[in-house]
Amino acid sequence: MQETPKESKLAKVSPKTRKVFEFIESSKSPLGAYDLLNDQNLRAIGFKAPTQIYRALKQLLDLRLIHKVESLNAFVACCKEHEKGPSILAICDNCGQVQDIPAEDLAAQVKREVGKKFPGLKELNIELKGVCEDCTSEDSEVQAATVS
Ligand SMILES: [Zn+2]
Ligand SMILES: [Zn+2]
Repeated sequence: MQETPKESKLAKVSPKTRKVFEFIESSKSPLGAYDLLNDQNLRAIGFKAPTQIYRALKQLLDLRLIHKVESLNAFVACCKEHEKGPSILAICDNCGQVQDIPAEDLAAQVKREVGKKFPGLKELNIELKGVCEDCTSEDSEVQAATVS
């Protein structure tokens, strides 16, 4: 069987770092370093100091298994639908979920717009605030219920 990119990336990290990834992946909302540090399961396998958590996070970020949500100072698992290039992180004000939406075309456009003014562009973080699809449809159901 062929390994998925995610599995081959996870094969490069220690079992402990893998647990950090699994915890972030299983969470519905983004997790901060202190959420990780306070997690009993991670403590039980030996994560005790912030530096250990930061080291694991850095490794996962470098492998693009997770993304940092800069405005929340928190981390989400990558949707795995983009191997490289940036994505749009859409943050729902209502439920707090963050969606990872690949945006490779947008990156090319930003590079064109920025052009010579900022040729050293290395990183592009796009974060959106608003309401996600689930929360929008819940709202419309509520409205429909009150009407009928
Ligand atoms: Zn991603
Ligand atoms: Zn939502």
